[in-house]
Order: sequence, then structure tokens, then C-alpha cells
Amino acid sequence: MNEMVLSKRLKKVSNEIPPGSKLADIGSDHAYLPCYAVLEGLAVYAVAGEVNEGPYQSAKKQVEKLKLEDRIKVRKGDGLEVLQNGEVSVITIAGMGGILISEILETGKEKLEGVKRLILQPNVGAKNVRRWLIENGWELIKEHILEEDQKIYEILVAERGNPLAPYQNEKLESALLLGPFLMKEKNEVFIKKWTYELAKWKKIMKQLENAVLNDETIEKREKIMNKIAIVEEVLQS
Ligand code: SAM
Repeated sequence: MNEMVLSKRLKKVSNEIPPGSKLADIGSDHAYLPCYAVLEGLAVYAVAGEVNEGPYQSAKKQVEKLKLEDRIKVRKGDGLEVLQNGEVSVITIAGMGGILISEILETGKEKLEGVKRLILQPNVGAKNVRRWLIENGWELIKEHILEEDQKIYEILVAERGNPLAPYQNEKLESALLLGPFLMKEKNEVFIKKWTYELAKWKKIMKQLENAVLNDETIEKREKIMNKIAIVEEVLQS
């Protein structure tokens, strides 16, 4: 990667960093995002956090290659433990599952003091992130959905506020799954993603028709049927 050219996904994440921020990028393999943010003036200072040795070394190398060591600190550690209280104003967590992102936020809660904005890009399970935000006083202020290399990504931007505000005119369960802003906008990528998911669930339902009925298969069927109903309602509206 050319150091000034980010993937479409990370570029979209970077667009949400207010210029002049103090940034922490957690799970920062290669530190591409903090390097770009500092070079573009989006961040005046950044922490690149990595829990694994390989990606931690890659991040260090990239920062050294660009001679950004004075402005980007690469730290090895789990989630938000690499941060000091009040050190940053914006946190990005991208390219992981929604459950892991929620766990990182939950475990590091006390480090969120002073943080004004969270920019989260779950690869799957965005619902878990939306739920965590609601339960912890963060208001979703924007959502994006995009496609790159045949994969579809969601980006969630949150600030402190009224966590239920974006959900007020929606069925909570539907909006948690689909995203309150995304389901309103219902753009081409959104329709593509959920049409694909719908087809996948219907196939699973067909397979389950032949499965032995027990508590597990009954619960699985109910969950999938519920999701099918939610998605069909929104796609058809
Ligand atoms: N954020 C980059 C992106 O979006 O392209 C890298 C995504 S990569 C798939 C996920 C990275 O998160 C890996 O480098 C992994 O080592 C790191 N990671 C996973 N769990 C973590 C945790 N609890 N704390 C810090 N880093 C973590």
C-alpha cells in the first residue's frame, strides 16, 4: 500500500475523524489508519494499539518508515489498556467482529473518559455494537455502508448523547439489526447485503425443515424466522 492511499473502507473511517483530533486506533495492524490521519492533519497525535506481536511489529515498522515516531505511539496491549485516561479524543476500532469491538469497549470503559467520538467498523455483528452504545450512553450519530472487494462493511459513528434518539421512530429490534440510519437510507449496498442475508437464511430454514426437532433446532428456527420477517418488512417497505 502506498502510505497515502488507504483502502476505501479505512478512508471512509478516516473521513469521520475531526481534524486536529487525538486519536487511538485499536487493533491497528500496520498502523495505516493513524499514519494517514497524522499525515493528513486529521490527528495531531495518535496511539496505535495492538495485542498481537506480528501486527504490533508491522505497525512499528510503518511508523518508523514514515518517521512519525514523535506523533504516533505504537503500544502493545489488549484493547484500551494501552491508553492513559484522557489521552485521546477519538477512538477507531475497525476490521473486527462486533462482539469483540463491544468487549473491548466494555473492558476498557474507564478509559473512555474524555473521549468524544467512537468510530467503529464491525465486519460482522454490528447489532452487538449498537446495543453496547445504547447501554452505555453513546448516541449513534451516523452510519455508513460500503462495498469493497466484494465485501460489505458498516461504519458506526457515535458521540455521547441520547442513545435512543436515532431509534425513536423505529422498531428497536429491526433498527438494532439493520441500523437506524442505514434502514432509512436503504441504499443499493444495504439492499444487496440484506437480500444476500435473506437468501442465506432461507436456505438454512430449508435445511432445518429436515432436522430433528429439539430445543436447539426450534430456537434456531425461531431466531432465523424472526430475522427473515424483520428484513423482509424493511426491504419491502
Ligand atoms: N484495524 C485494521 C483494519 O481495519 O484494517 C486491522 C484489522 S485486523 C483484521 C484486526 C486487528 O486487531 C489484528 O491486527 C488483531 O491483532 C487486532 N486485535 C484483535 N483483538 C485485539 C485487542 N483486544 N486489542 C488490540 N488489538 C486487537
